[in-house]
Amino acid sequence: MKLILLGPPGSGKGTMSERLTKDFKLKHISPGEIFRDEIEKKTQLGQEIRKYMEGGGLVPDNLTNEIIKLEIEKQKKFLLDGYPRTIGQAQALSKVVKIDKVILLEVSEKTAIERISGRRICSQCETPFHIKFIPPKKTGICNKCGGKLMQRKDDAPASVKKRFQIYNEQVKHLKEFFQRKKLLRRIDASSTPKEVYHEIQKAVKDS
Ligand code: AMP
Repeated sequence: MKLILLGPPGSGKGTMSERLTKDFKLKHISPGEIFRDEIEKKTQLGQEIRKYMEGGGLVPDNLTNEIIKLEIEKQKKFLLDGYPRTIGQAQALSKVVKIDKVILLEVSEKTAIERISGRRICSQCETPFHIKFIPPKKTGICNKCGGKLMQRKDDAPASVKKRFQIYNEQVKHLKEFFQRKKLLRRIDASSTPKEVYHEIQKAVKDS
């Protein structure tokens, strides 16, 4: 199974990808995570990537495509989260591998902003939580690894608005691209995590 999960910030993408990868035994591939890891390790690649990420823009396609291609080639079953983000990336991907389905989570900007304000992420393993919807067992502490929970810098409302705008601009083209290939499955992501996940499971299992 080779899946792509698309959705704006606040659509529940992190939570849904965690459940999907566990239940369907998929390798989670996320450029954002790979990039943050490279920056933390202070590699040469990390140095180069940092300037794009800090400016709030995207890392250039050629660099991103190459990194993701290396990851994909190692895996038989995976979930791509945060890739492709541009048409150039979608085209490059289609030359490397045959994708089974593209799950698109749809949610309004208002709902997304409400959700994001309560979002927390583990500073060590990146497991997502939400102070209201998915609270950790112990306040401020990750259930999985005991790491400290934090709020991402780009989860501030102004930053979220900008990310939403960029996402809307890009997703238009991706939607068309994958719809033409009959791979797109649209999911209403405004209900509870349980309901949304149920719909995703149905979409993944349907042929
Ligand atoms: P994310 O963790 O998905 O929110 O990504 C964090 C940052 O990593 C983005 O703001 C971009 O700078 C970079 N990034 C993540 N995915 C991609 C991608 N597919 N193409 C280019 N840059 C990306």
